[in-house]
Amino acid sequence: MKPDFHGKVAIVTGAGSGIGAAVSRQLAQEGAEVVVADLDAEAAHCKAAEISSQGGRAYDFAVDVTDAAAVEKLIEFTVQKCGGLDMAVNNAGIDGVRKATADYPLDNWHKLINVNLNGVFYSMKYEIAAMLNRGGGAIVNMSSVLGSVGLPTASAYTAAKHGVVGLTKVAAIEYARMGIRINVVGPGWIETPLLSEQMEALATRRMAGLQPMGRRGKPEEVAALVCFLLSDQASFVTGSYHLVDGAYTAH
Ligand code: NAP
Repeated sequence: MKPDFHGKVAIVTGAGSGIGAAVSRQLAQEGAEVVVADLDAEAAHCKAAEISSQGGRAYDFAVDVTDAAAVEKLIEFTVQKCGGLDMAVNNAGIDGVRKATADYPLDNWHKLINVNLNGVFYSMKYEIAAMLNRGGGAIVNMSSVLGSVGLPTASAYTAAKHGVVGLTKVAAIEYARMGIRINVVGPGWIETPLLSEQMEALATRRMAGLQPMGRRGKPEEVAALVCFLLSDQASFVTGSYHLVDGAYTAH
């Protein structure tokens, strides 16, 4: 059975590219009104226009998730434009430089934690308030396989993604009796523009060993899990971490 999102309003951050774009498309295909939010205003505009041209309902919004006031404006825009908020996918994220922990540059550390962890906190802070006004909702936060295992030279990314898992669990417990379900997804290596050239080369070289399926996942394969978790089919699923990783973490 496919999820049915008719009459529902969703925000997706980092929706101008990769996984966020695929999630936005699937949500719109199943009937949701989607606010396509991204740092890259042009990319957000193009994705929203693409969804609209295929008969969906989507609006673009330029936002930097490291700016709490801007995130608050995104939620205000959504509520004014669409009448409320039912679903949110806190997906915006960046890759970082590759350095051993003692050599990790402080500015890179702060930038990565700001986008990949603080950005999820700011988003949830204002989304939850809007969902409480609506009487409930569902949130999916985007972590990674690096929310459960470590990757040498990726201390900031791994710390941020572990943080997103912990943040999700706490918020899920806090709002479990108030009609808001909150889950976290951990993708393995997915075919998107996220990875730097350095990481692309590493990913390609180590692919067979890292992901037993021997290939990278597709954004649509992550989006299918996200849509399930947002849907009423997942009505008893909250506070949990869901891997979509071709068995990356199984060994
Ligand atoms: P992507 O194709 O690079 O898309 C990420 C989007 O987020 C980009 O459009 C990017 O805009 C935007 N963004 C970056 N910083 C932002 C900010 N401060 N505020 C708002 N938007 C911002 O990457 P993706 O692979 O789809 O990644 C989506 C999420 O999945 C990330 O959280 C990532 O960590 C996670 N993930 C990805 C993989 C993978 O293998 N691809 C694996 C595990 C987890 P710009 O292009 O302007 O930077």
